[in-house]
Amino acid sequence: MKAIRVHEFGSPEVMRLEEVEAPKPGPGETLINIKATGVNPVDTYIRAGIYGAKKLPFIPGSDAAGVVEAVGENVKRFSPGNRVYTSGTISGAYAEKALCKESQAHILPDRITFSQGACLGVPYATAYRAIFQRAKALPGEVILIHGASGGVGTASVQLARAAGMKVIATAGTDKGRALALKEGAHFVVDHTKPGHMDEVMRITDNNGADVIIEFLANVNLAADLKTLAKGGRVVVVGSRGTIEIDPREAMGRDGSIIGMSLFNAAEKELYSIHSALTAGLENGTLRPIVGREMPLKDAPAAHHAILEERAYGKIILIP
Ligand code: NAP
Repeated sequence: MKAIRVHEFGSPEVMRLEEVEAPKPGPGETLINIKATGVNPVDTYIRAGIYGAKKLPFIPGSDAAGVVEAVGENVKRFSPGNRVYTSGTISGAYAEKALCKESQAHILPDRITFSQGACLGVPYATAYRAIFQRAKALPGEVILIHGASGGVGTASVQLARAAGMKVIATAGTDKGRALALKEGAHFVVDHTKPGHMDEVMRITDNNGADVIIEFLANVNLAADLKTLAKGGRVVVVGSRGTIEIDPREAMGRDGSIIGMSLFNAAEKELYSIHSALTAGLENGTLRPIVGREMPLKDAPAAHHAILEERAYGKIILIP
């Protein structure tokens, strides 16, 4: 099979398209014929060698969608021919085929395309965990999605709207704000404008947001704390550096700063997350947004794009 492999950590160009032997499923494992693969920022951190221990050489990627080709002994939930998406793989998702544990595959409803299915594993699971498992957000609460035009952001807007929250979304461009509105935001704000959090205060009648889902905490955390309602929670989903904050802003509001990493989710929590996502995909409240499709061989360009260009939905690689 064709696969992208990393032989040394470094720039996107260390990823090379190669011919490798297709894996075979052992007990409890499923082999998937991949139709689409999602590119996530974390793939770039792992390829660069700054996150997660990986033995070289490896095939990057965790999120794919495709058709079950073969199952190993004791696999109960799948049989060949099932449409599935993955939330992690054993062998890597930037390839024509991937081996998964049974728990890493999930049935993909017919109404969802393979490219949409490849948007789910990290982005939707992260959004669900941030909003419901970490912030414990409730219907009726005000939620600020601080960075709503990307993979996790659009997922967060759809999930929060479907759950009955008042959704304020930010994006850096007209196109990003239009996307957030289309996906269910009640209000949009431009996060490139100085003082944009004053607008959030105005929208909330100066009460602030009950929940803030933060994708660039090193830039926004200090302002987030000032924009929290009493008892509010900021969930730090993304951060690319350090920042100085005034802890009194949290103290005075009984506010919380909550970290989250999808990698810390227990098997039981992941099962709960993907059960909820499947329900949302089936009833049409979750509609993954494909921003751009590129051939698998263009994985290096996809890694440049996800870090250097603006996001409008997900970048997908097609094997
Ligand atoms: P993405 O698709 O590249 O989206 C990035 C988002 O950040 C865009 O909506 C972008 O908006 C927004 N952004 C840019 N400048 C911003 C600012 N000043 N304030 C607020 N938002 C800003 O990336 P993604 O896949 O959604 O991931 C987002 C972040 O979450 C990444 O840092 C990723 O590493 C992290 N993440 C963490 C976990 C975890 O488990 N903790 C899991 C998944 C992802 P514009 O382009 O409109 O400006």
